[in-house]
Amino acid sequence: MNLENMYQEIILDHYKHPHGKGQVEKADAEVTHVNPTCGDEITLQVVKIPGTENFNIFYQNQGCSISQASASILFDQLNGKSLAEGEIAVDHMVAMMQRTQEPDEDILGDGIALVGVSAYPARVKCALLSWMAWKDAVIQAQGS
Ligand code: ZN
Repeated sequence: MNLENMYQEIILDHYKHPHGKGQVEKADAEVTHVNPTCGDEITLQVVKIPGTENFNIFYQNQGCSISQASASILFDQLNGKSLAEGEIAVDHMVAMMQRTQEPDEDILGDGIALVGVSAYPARVKCALLSWMAWKDAVIQAQGS
C-alpha cells in the first residue's frame, strides 16, 4: 500500500467512525462555522477543565468526508489541551495547507493524512474548518 492510499484509509476511517462527536448542555463557548462553498458545517463546544487552562471538545457536524475526518482528527489531537498547546497544531495545519511546512506527525497525528488536500485549494477550507472553529471557541471561552 503506498502512502497516498494509506492516507486515504486514515481519512475514510475517521469519516466513518468519528472520534468524540457529541454535545453538552452547558459549554464555556459554542461556535458554528460553515463552509458555504462545500456545505460543511460544524458546531463546536469547549468546556474548561476545572483548575487547568485546558478544554474538552464537543462537536456536531455535517458535510464532506474531508471536513468530517478533519474534525475527528482535531478531537484526537486537541481534546484536553490549552489554547497555547493547540495553537501550535492549528498553525502547523494551516502552514501544511499553504504548503509552507512539511507535515509533522508529532504535532498533527493523523492530520498528516490531510496533506494531499493542500493540492486542492477549494478543499482547503474543508480541512481547516474545525481547526478554526476550535481556536475561535477557546479564545471566546478564555475571554469569558
Ligand atoms: Zn467540504
